[in-house]
Amino acid sequence: MLASQVQKISGENPLACYQCGNCTGSCPMEFVMDYGPRRLIHLLQIGYDDEVLKSNTIWICASCYNCTYRCPRKISFTRMAFALKNIAMKKNIIPKKCKAFYETFLKHVLNYGRLNESLFINELVLKGGKDFSEIVRDINLGIKLWRKGKLKMKISKIDGVKDIVKLYNLTKDVIK
Ligand code: SF4
Repeated sequence: MLASQVQKISGENPLACYQCGNCTGSCPMEFVMDYGPRRLIHLLQIGYDDEVLKSNTIWICASCYNCTYRCPRKISFTRMAFALKNIAMKKNIIPKKCKAFYETFLKHVLNYGRLNESLFINELVLKGGKDFSEIVRDINLGIKLWRKGKLKMKISKIDGVKDIVKLYNLTKDVIK
């Protein structure tokens, strides 16, 4: 059952949730989610595993930890969402745009130790991670940021990238 897999990976027990809804009430991203955190946990509790893994909720979670802070049961939905993302990735259940985003993000972190925003956006577009209206919006925003000196064109790399790669290799196969 997915709920026990989530508990094993995240240390959070979905069955401990008593459905008060504080997490959903404090989530800044709930308005674009298929299911708010409370409803997603409920689906986990009743074994609707496919609905949980196919929902956009786990990918849209911004990891702000508001839900964790507000939960009277001390449950962290954010940590559950991390576990669910890992499980969904392993099963290749991931929306195309999210896949492009995560792959490009990871590539940057492993190559440079940081994001180079302008290069990152270009690669994301090439991988199909954005539709036309998003590209137009991003170009306009990019021009504004560049004019204010907030968008660097130069590619930079941090010291210690090798350590980040080592850390990644140690953790990437945690979920079998
Ligand atoms: Fe469940 Fe905690 Fe969310 Fe309340 S705040 S619905 S107890 S996870």
